[in-house]
Amino acid sequence: MNLGLDDDELSSCVQCGLCLPHCPTFRVTGEESASPRGRISLMREVQQKGAVVDDAFVGYMDACVQCRACEPACPSGVPFGRLMEQTRETLAATRPSYVPRWRRFGLRLLARHRLVIAGSRMLAVAQRAHLVPASVSRRVGLPARLPIRQARLESSGNDVWLFTGCVMDAWERHVHASAARVIEATGAGVAFPPTRGRAGCCGALAVHAGLGDDARAMARAVMASMPGDAPILVDSAGCGAAMKDYGHLLDTNDARRFAARVVDVHEWLAPRISQLPAGTPIAGTVAVHDACHLRNVQRVHENVRTVLRPYVGQLVELDDEGLCCGAGGAYAALHPEMAADIRARKLAAIERSGATIVASANPGCTLHLAAAGIDVRHPVELLESAIDG
Ligand code: SF4
Ligand code: SF4
Repeated sequence: MNLGLDDDELSSCVQCGLCLPHCPTFRVTGEESASPRGRISLMREVQQKGAVVDDAFVGYMDACVQCRACEPACPSGVPFGRLMEQTRETLAATRPSYVPRWRRFGLRLLARHRLVIAGSRMLAVAQRAHLVPASVSRRVGLPARLPIRQARLESSGNDVWLFTGCVMDAWERHVHASAARVIEATGAGVAFPPTRGRAGCCGALAVHAGLGDDARAMARAVMASMPGDAPILVDSAGCGAAMKDYGHLLDTNDARRFAARVVDVHEWLAPRISQLPAGTPIAGTVAVHDACHLRNVQRVHENVRTVLRPYVGQLVELDDEGLCCGAGGAYAALHPEMAADIRARKLAAIERSGATIVASANPGCTLHLAAAGIDVRHPVELLESAIDG
């Protein structure tokens, strides 16, 4: 079966195995087929040797967290993320059961921002009435107390856009407010995209699921929502990685121009750190959890340390070389046991570090780690509270 993969990219893996220790699913299972090398071998078997696509193949592809820790570890530059995305797109197009209807419907809903906000409010009310079973909350990774009312985000200028997204805007809008406050403290004015219509989700979750057409529709709506030349700042590592890849996703010059404007908020703040006012250092020991899509895809994770260092009393490193926490977008909800096993390794690293606070720049990681009782804050929240004393 033709998976639609580029044969040169597929053949670029020299089977050296250097990526294996970095792969969270290999670390948990010890299975070759659950490693990047094993998955590439399976893709080759199907595309180049005519092996059938069976449940085992689908299972190994689906169990990949898409953390892309295998990419920076690879001496041959194998674009594993692209191979996995294309494989999933082919699976979703040829096996309707691969992405069931309820999941397709849910992912499409993310582009309807007003519905996302309304649904989140209803869930918040149900939570307060104790109508949401703890097992459901755990499985979906719901925050302990969803907000019923959201702060209004008011534009303060047009020097930069701040992307707001879908679920993050419904569940963690306070992070956008903190990001705006910190950006404004450098003297820049912040514009927010309109939320009417279909300009909510960046499409990352649709890409992960293999729903390329849905992802492309969302990407076009996001592009239309932030016109002009101003930089587009993103405070969610997963969304930023997806939006920086719009050129590849849509393959148009407009998309490439748009993608070139996308900047992670820490990447933007790091060279402007001297423009921020001095603050009161954050008490406690703070460990940075590198979101995979900041470290392995955007590769701008050092900027988080640059912006936190002047404002944190004690900043410590985890000793797990950026191992994934298991959140993986919707992965933790779809593969709860594997996600919990992966997270257990991250929790052990946090415990060894002695950290009392974990800084995470990705909403999925934040929810997944907070569900295990960790005090997780977004770096811009820490910056805001330091600046505001
Ligand atoms: S993307 Fe992550 S989980 Fe998937 S094969 Fe690579 S390292 Fe393993
Ligand atoms: S490190 Fe790269 S070349 Fe080596 S096995 Fe992994 S993907 Fe293949």
